[in-house]
Amino acid sequence: MASIHRLLPIQSAETLLRIPRALKLYSYAAIFFHKDGDFPAKSAGSVLQRLSHGGPGRRRTPTRISAGWFSGLGVKKEALPDIVKAGDPVLHEPAGEVPLEDIGSDKIQKIIDDMIGVMRKAPGVGLAAPQIGIPLRIIVLEDTKEYISYGPKDETEAQDRHPFDLLVIVNPKLEKKGSKRALFFEGCLSIDGFRAMVERHLQVEVTGYSRFGQPMKIDSSGWMARILQHEYDHLDGTLYVDKIVPRTFRTVENLDLPLPVGCTKAGVSNQQEIPSITFQG
Ligand SMILES: [Zn+2]
Repeated sequence: MASIHRLLPIQSAETLLRIPRALKLYSYAAIFFHKDGDFPAKSAGSVLQRLSHGGPGRRRTPTRISAGWFSGLGVKKEALPDIVKAGDPVLHEPAGEVPLEDIGSDKIQKIIDDMIGVMRKAPGVGLAAPQIGIPLRIIVLEDTKEYISYGPKDETEAQDRHPFDLLVIVNPKLEKKGSKRALFFEGCLSIDGFRAMVERHLQVEVTGYSRFGQPMKIDSSGWMARILQHEYDHLDGTLYVDKIVPRTFRTVENLDLPLPVGCTKAGVSNQQEIPSITFQG
């Protein structure tokens, strides 16, 4: 079944497998998480949204569709923002700090709630405020047993990937720790349908504030550290494609195909730097 998913466009795979309508969302999620157990670039939510609405990001689209899927027919939910896509200036410029006195405000709390909703709807394991068109330094992240179960066990073990509860970090500051680095494929909800290898530090320390303004500090390693670095980069206007290993960029459908000759294989490195022939930072 995995090879069918890998080789066919999603729509074709879906037709072939005759996925029941009610299971579509989870099937999409399974396909994308199965691919690399990472940030699902082309998500069920975005696919449905594009099919139903199309158009540019930031516009709030009705959630009648998702309300139908998740909450029963006829239940109305407040609209969630669309995910902003690469090319929008808000994704390529540094975001501003949230004034501490504003963290508790209705406006900031609403932004945070929207971010959590958008991340879970996608579904994704992380989101930065610029990805919903808000140029503020706020990130949310969450990884679950269910998401991780979609990835092959040997892959998620190599990635040092473990579930963690929802984290909201306002004005994060990230410090890379140690010299160990890891090279794995990642994707981004703002760049649908693609993946590329990115070198990340294996360990990071992040300080910042909770959504209630309490100071917080997180020591993180493995996949969670990767998510933190990916989301933190968003706040500086950096996308993962700005720091990929050249020649590893590919469509989701081609993710499992062999790497070009000369590319370093995925994994963890003790080296201070991955050879420059396979990495540009
Ligand atoms: Zn991203």
